[in-house]
Amino acid sequence: MQRWTKKTLTALTTSLARAYPDAKCALEHGDPFQLVVATILSAQCTDARVNQVTPGLFQRYPDAEALAGAEQGELEALIHSTGFFRNKARNLIGMAQALLARHGGQVPREAQALGALPGVGQKTANVVLANAFGIPALAVDTHIFRVARRLGLSQGSTPEKVEADLCALFPRDTWIDLHHLLIFHGRGSCDARKPLCSSCPVQELCPSGSGKIADPHSGLFLK
Ligand code: SF4
Repeated sequence: MQRWTKKTLTALTTSLARAYPDAKCALEHGDPFQLVVATILSAQCTDARVNQVTPGLFQRYPDAEALAGAEQGELEALIHSTGFFRNKARNLIGMAQALLARHGGQVPREAQALGALPGVGQKTANVVLANAFGIPALAVDTHIFRVARRLGLSQGSTPEKVEADLCALFPRDTWIDLHHLLIFHGRGSCDARKPLCSSCPVQELCPSGSGKIADPHSGLFLK
């Protein structure tokens, strides 16, 4: 695996920050509750699509109380275009009911309490902690998983292992920004099928750059 040093890690984050100055949470939300809802909807769906659906959804169900009493069929119709709408509708109602039953209708600020809500796993909990409360957390999605492995930041075979490796490598106060930077990089240069290595802003730091990668999905190297 790439031998990263404090100096090269700093160079990596500096280069990414320069390349993606607008990197931030792409899910539009006005409060923690809306972010939980949007993040649940974003599973297997683009953020852009979620952002098309949420304005109408938040108008109809502005808080946990309203969503907890939602009629499943009506909710499904509203979120249909995000895919997996039956499961998502069930989870959204269950999540809202759990917020009412356990947290007075408010979104908790603790990872364990968040992760115990229906439809909210570790990744969603981290997204909410970081973006709704500014609490350092590093959610590993498909982009971060791929990019971290290609860059040799982790060889972890699960998102949890990659998260642990990244959290060990980078200072805690950089985790929130790093999360956004790696996602923007994965969407921008480091595409799953066709990484744009020749124009990549961190190519000189990357062990998988131009011609060195065997399988973009797995991050396996040719040598
Ligand atoms: S050099 Fe290629 S594989 Fe490495 S981070 Fe850049 S785009 Fe991804």
